[in-house]
Amino acid sequence: KLREEETVRRRLHNTIQELKGNIRVFCRVRPLLHSDLGTDSDGKNMTGLIPHIRYPEEANNRNGIELVQSQESATSGKTTVKQYPFTFDRVFRPETTQSTVFEEISQLVQSALDGYPVCIFAYGQTGSGKTHTMEGPNQPTEDTMGMIPRAVRQIYQTATVLREKGWEYQMEGQFLEIYNEAIHDLLANQSDASQSHVGRKHDIKHLPGGKTMVTDLTSVELDSPEKVHQLLKRATQNRAVAATQCNERSSRSHSVFTLRLNGHNTITNETSEGVLNLIDLAGSERLSQSGSTGDRLKETQAINKSLSSLGDVIYAISNRDNHVPYRNSKLTYLLQNSLGGNSKTLMFVNISPVATNFQETLCSLRFATKVNSCQIGTARRNIK
Ligand code: ADP
Ligand code: MG
Repeated sequence: KLREEETVRRRLHNTIQELKGNIRVFCRVRPLLHSDLGTDSDGKNMTGLIPHIRYPEEANNRNGIELVQSQESATSGKTTVKQYPFTFDRVFRPETTQSTVFEEISQLVQSALDGYPVCIFAYGQTGSGKTHTMEGPNQPTEDTMGMIPRAVRQIYQTATVLREKGWEYQMEGQFLEIYNEAIHDLLANQSDASQSHVGRKHDIKHLPGGKTMVTDLTSVELDSPEKVHQLLKRATQNRAVAATQCNERSSRSHSVFTLRLNGHNTITNETSEGVLNLIDLAGSERLSQSGSTGDRLKETQAINKSLSSLGDVIYAISNRDNHVPYRNSKLTYLLQNSLGGNSKTLMFVNISPVATNFQETLCSLRFATKVNSCQIGTARRNIK
């Protein structure tokens, strides 16, 4: 009886997901910060306040966003206004709280517990709120906690409820960084960590049956929801160690938090193996290759390549292409088994409200639209 109910519930959930498509894009606009103001040298130090982002007027429209660019012609003195409208699965305005954002992803987190592979990305330029969204601040409060600790907490709570139906879950966390196309363990012991950038090499292995493993990577059992805070702290410390070797390193690397959820039902004997990946991507700012040499050039090329490869992979999946180019970057190769197939993908495109970031914001919204464009195409065709 239990098994039947469970099967029906999953099938229904699946159907709903199928209809909605398995790739979603949420846009999140961060609030204006004190540090955004007074950055202009020409006396117009209110730059950050010039409104260049508009939202639809209808109160219930939660999908639209428009960038507005006014340009004064030097010759005629006339002002021309250009509008760039975008639509996403959801647009979070600056005042949106972490808990409201989490409500919108909690279903995906639930899917991982049900045995699906799930990927949640944060894409955007440096300073747009990716880390705030994923991890939250270094000293989090109940209100400011990011998606990673919230996801762990929810999984823990749901697992407790499911225990009554016979499910026993084992939850394991891993946290790695991809920098210059090489993998580093963010949970390594401090003493190992300082050496790991030169020393230990981690390889990606795809095992038969659709599992992926990374060699020599630390795995932490999350047997209480509080453990996630220790784990995030350790990652922050390890990043700080690495930062002495390269400034701004965290904005130039991808960090991938992986939760493995292995369930076994002691009543029905079913098993489930879900994976939840939360990925804080490298800053998407267009990095000029001119003038860069040596390590810096290599770094720039690695970031450009992996972000465009990710776009290509998601595009190919939503386009239902026969060939998906997973092998073009470490990131997509690592996530091969969690992207496509029966997996679910969500991308946050984080943007800054600062007017001087206009071009980067436009680029980010265009990237996000490209990633999602096939889905829209399919939906339209179905309607006809
Ligand atoms: P990124 O990781 O994209 O480089 P951060 O997450 O570090 O950007 O955000 C840049 C700054 O903006 C940080 O000081 C962060 O605390 C702040 N910030 C970002 N998003 C929000 C938000 N939704 N609410 C409050 N502060 C935010
Ligand atoms: Mg960051």
